[in-house]
This record gives sequence, C-alpha cells and structure tokens, in this order.
Amino acid sequence: MATYLERHVAIDRSRLLDYALSYARHGWRVVPLYERLPDGRCACERPSCSVPHPRVPTLACATTDEEEIRRWWRLAPRAGIGVVITGRDGSETLLPIPGTSGP
Ligand SMILES: [Zn+2]
Repeated sequence: MATYLERHVAIDRSRLLDYALSYARHGWRVVPLYERLPDGRCACERPSCSVPHPRVPTLACATTDEEEIRRWWRLAPRAGIGVVITGRDGSETLLPIPGTSGP
C-alpha cells in the first residue's frame, strides 16, 4: 500500500538540485545524502548500509550556501536531500526529505 507521501508528493528526481536550492532559500540548511541504486543497494556501496545517510563527514557541513550546494549536486546529481535541524540544546538532527533518495 502506498504511503501518504507516495500518493501526494511527486518528487522529480531530475530536479534535486532545484529542490535543494529552494530549501536553502527558505533558510533550511541542507546536506546531500547517499541515494538508493536501482538494485536497492546504497550508493556508498558498503555491504550493510541503511539508506539514507549523508555524503558529508558531519551534519555541521549542512549549509544554505548556494555555491556549495551547486558543487555537491554537480559531484553527485542523484544525491538525496537532507535538512539539518538544530535543537534548542544545539543538537543537530538529520531530516531526510522523503522520496529524494530514490526508490
Ligand atoms: Zn550507504
């Protein structure tokens, strides 16, 4: 059974950079995520891996900087999108945008 998001949110995976830039323009700090390959494996190619996880070393790399975001998606055009939320205590949480990391 399709989830609510699958039924109501159509993600065009050829426009991932546009989405990432749009989130950044709203002030949301983004990071690129490893995506799922057509055969179901994670693009990081480690044997046991749970998609999605960041393509950057730490969540502190999250940014609204357009240059950096363009560079990331130039290197990995199929990368999923994560938004990093900072809590009141300064802790950072990764929110993967549903549907952007592949099937
Ligand atoms: Zn992985």
